[in-house]
Parts: sequence; structure tokens; C-alpha cells
Amino acid sequence: MDGSAKILRPVARRVSGMPTSDGAGVKLNRLIGTPQLDHVDPFLMLDEFRSDDADDYIAGFPEHPHRGFETVTYMLAGKMRHGDNKGHTGRLDAGSVQWMTAGRGILHSEMPEQENGLMWGFQLWVNLPAKDKMTAPRYQEIPPAEIPTASLPGGVSIKVIAGEAGGVHGPINGIATEPVMLDIAVPADGAITLPLPATHAVFLYPFQGDIAVGESPDRVAHGTLAVLGAGDAVKIAAPGGDARVLLVAGRPLNEPIARYGPFVMNTPQEIRQAAMDFQAGRF
Ligand code: FE
Repeated sequence: MDGSAKILRPVARRVSGMPTSDGAGVKLNRLIGTPQLDHVDPFLMLDEFRSDDADDYIAGFPEHPHRGFETVTYMLAGKMRHGDNKGHTGRLDAGSVQWMTAGRGILHSEMPEQENGLMWGFQLWVNLPAKDKMTAPRYQEIPPAEIPTASLPGGVSIKVIAGEAGGVHGPINGIATEPVMLDIAVPADGAITLPLPATHAVFLYPFQGDIAVGESPDRVAHGTLAVLGAGDAVKIAAPGGDARVLLVAGRPLNEPIARYGPFVMNTPQEIRQAAMDFQAGRF
């Protein structure tokens, strides 16, 4: 058998998001972490926030805890101020990424640093393996200029946040689930086939334009999240016009998940412990 033969992953599942609000009343669209799609192991949640009405985002996410997983914020438009109880602070501008490994616990706030204009981005929750859930908190903050772009044939360009595409490696490192996170721009009538580890779970979210996925191919409209099936490559085409797609892949943990709000552990006892530690000021 030809060692380079690729099995294109099909669309296994499609979900449209669930409008909800979180923090102090920020309106967002939840794509993963809903009754319809609880998780895509190792990914626990995906939210898209997009509004040019300040009333939808101005209240922000005042101080709250996290334990046992990682939060990833990718800003497309707008500015967000971040601060935590260890004195770490920073501003996320459009095009930047913050990969925060909460580990054993942090208390932080995420507040918009603008009073009008478009605020648009994603927050992804990535689970940690049991052995790393109580690790020390760690931040990776990547400004837009440090996210490399892979330019591929046919005018496809890919911002590589984590993992590899077209020989370009993303800046995020040392993450247990070996994630691949790509922001892929496919021009009208263009297509790209990307090899991805067969071990990984993969989802796609076209956030501009519609795409066609796989061999058949299957149409996925923008605003619809597609969970992909088994294979070792992903083919994305843009038959209807320019498209932009978030591709996220990671190695499943296959461990029990116990979650309660901002705590994600393996057992109910560990969740009770997290709540007690939080209430006792031990974060
Ligand atoms: Fe948070």
C-alpha cells in the first residue's frame, strides 16, 4: 500500500450553536458544551462571542475560578483585558491568542477593553489528563505578529496557532493533548488537504462562508460546527466563495469527566474538593 495514501475524514456530526449568556451577562453562541454536544474529547466547550452592540459584552467576565483544564481565547476583533489573583495581567488584541493552563486553580477576570465596536472571538476549553489537573498554572500569550502563516498552493493561507500545517509550526507548546489549532482562509473555489494525526479528534467551524468537507463532499454552512470521523487527513473546499474556518484537533484522553461550572475533574469527590478549596481561598 502506498504509505502516502490519505483517508479523508468525513463529517460525522453537525451542530448549530445554542445562544446563551455567561460571565456577568455576555451574550454568546455555545457550540460545544451543550445538551446537544456535551464535549468532543478532549474539548469541553467552544463559545463564539460576536457582537457590535456593547450591551452584549460590556459586563464581561468578572473574577471567577478555573481548575482542572485549559482555557484558550482567540480574538478576531476587539480588545479584552485579563487579570488574575497572582498579579498576572495582559491585554488580548485582535488576532492574539491566550492559552491558559489553569491546572490546580486560578481566579481571573476577562473584561472588554472597549465601550463600542465589534467584539469577536472564541473561547475553547481543553481538558487536562488526570495526572496534570493539579499542575501549576501556566500562560502562553501570543501576539498576532508571533502567529506564523503557512501560505499554500491555490491561495490558501493558514494561521498556525498550535501544531503544524504546511511545514509551519505554531507557537503554543507543551500541551498534553498535542493540539492542532488552525485559522484557515480558503479562497473561492479553492481547496486544501491537510494531513492530521489519525489519533486525534477533529472539529471544524466555518465562521465566514460555507465549506465542503471530505471526499463526497459534505456541505457545512457557516455557523455550523462539524465533528469529523476517522481518517488521517482533512479536505476543505470553498465552492461558494471565500471561507474562513477554525480547525481544532487533539488527542482524546478517554478519562471520566466530572464537571461543575468552572471546575472539570475526574470524580465528584474531586469537584467537591475544588469547591471547598475555592471557598477556603486556596486558589
Ligand atoms: Fe475564565
